[in-house]
Amino acid sequence: MKEYSEENYLMLSGIQHFAFCRRQWALIHIEQQWQENLRTVEGRILHEKAHDRQSFEKRKDIIISRGIAVFSKYLGVYGSCDVVEFKKSEKGITLFGREDLYLPIPIEYKKGKPKDNDADALQLCAQAICLEEMLLCQIMEGYLFYGEINHRYKVVFSYELRERVKSMFDEMHDLYERRYTPKVKETKACNACSLKNLCIPKLCKNISVSKYISNRLEEEE
Ligand code: SF4
Repeated sequence: MKEYSEENYLMLSGIQHFAFCRRQWALIHIEQQWQENLRTVEGRILHEKAHDRQSFEKRKDIIISRGIAVFSKYLGVYGSCDVVEFKKSEKGITLFGREDLYLPIPIEYKKGKPKDNDADALQLCAQAICLEEMLLCQIMEGYLFYGEINHRYKVVFSYELRERVKSMFDEMHDLYERRYTPKVKETKACNACSLKNLCIPKLCKNISVSKYISNRLEEEE
């Protein structure tokens, strides 16, 4: 099994961008272009709320941990989990300083409502794969919590979902090594894209965003 070395790790959360649009992921993670719109700012604030209480808390048979840093050599990624609930179970694992066994269950918080793609489930599954590798256990399910509807949904980490996560990160590593930004492919998703003003689908078909911007600056000099 191939393992990635630490210096080549990618950001775990990038899988959401990649699932939405490969070019968007490359603009953010390869070309580092970023333009915040309301959607991304609001999302970040909700995330900060989940992360600013990095702590352990015990409620009956559940230990709640916030902001756990995770990584995986198998996927070649690093990131963090909003929340991991450790539920007391005979099928669980030992935790440092605890007598009982606990099953880890990752939970990811999202600002809006469920999307019509599975980007959130892919991100959550990647977190579970990291936790499995770090804690030497198997995690069958996790939850996505949506702030707008105040509801959480169960996500089963099926073989197919795991394979998609793995093949997406392998593809990201390949693009990253080649520093290759996929060309514009205009779709309905472009309307909701936080980078559409930088990506400029109609004007930017054959050149990178960096090149486009530097060309414009040269023209204006
Ligand atoms: S504007 Fe469209 S093609 Fe460009 S990054 Fe966004 S979704 Fe992708």
